[in-house]
Amino acid sequence: MSIAANIEKIKQQLSQNIKLIAVSKTKPVETLMEAYNSGQKIFGENKVQELVGKFEQMPKDIEWHMIGHLQSNKVKYIIPFVALIHSVDSENILLEINKQAAKINKIQQVLLQISIADEETKFGFEEAELFNLLVKFKNHEFPNIEIVGLMGMATFTENEEQIANEFAGLKKLFDNVKATYFSSQESFHQLSMGMSSDYQIAIANGSNLIRVGSTIFGGR
Ligand SMILES: *Cc1c(COP(=O)(O)O)cnc(C)c1O
Repeated sequence: MSIAANIEKIKQQLSQNIKLIAVSKTKPVETLMEAYNSGQKIFGENKVQELVGKFEQMPKDIEWHMIGHLQSNKVKYIIPFVALIHSVDSENILLEINKQAAKINKIQQVLLQISIADEETKFGFEEAELFNLLVKFKNHEFPNIEIVGLMGMATFTENEEQIANEFAGLKKLFDNVKATYFSSQESFHQLSMGMSSDYQIAIANGSNLIRVGSTIFGGR
């Protein structure tokens, strides 16, 4: 099937409030342009250099999302144009994003990545760390940051019940954080969960932002 047909097939499964991010990492610009020309305007990348390169080469009405682990020294390259950073996984990164956003008078929208998988390799905050950070956030320590939601990656397993439990746990945490810290803010509304192998399970458990790569572009 064509890239356009792959996107169409996924979109047919999504209700209006759910957004699809086309995860285009490792794919060349010509391939991304096929998706763009079919109407896809949101792309996700996981490496700074690749993200910057594609931003420079592609049309300017694209919404670029950073979905991969960030190093502090590279934050400055993406702040001028990135729409949403999904992968904020430490206070240090948040401080650096705040600093770089302040330099250009931007309020940078971010998601906080939460560790939900049963794997050491995945990045993200534990719940206790998250609540500590939210207190600091509420004390205005990060004036150039807007936290608009949470992100999580489930364990890489065939066990769908485990995946569903992990996503359901993150949805519960999301609702709790929203009620406790953002009850008056409409902007805290994004829950980024689900990739090619598990986006249907993620949607069933409350995701409204799915990050799909190989089902659109083929294997890497
Ligand atoms: C690569 C990647 C995806 C997409 O993975 P697919 O299995 O190709 O859909 C989603 N989220 C993150 C954080 C990724 O790095």
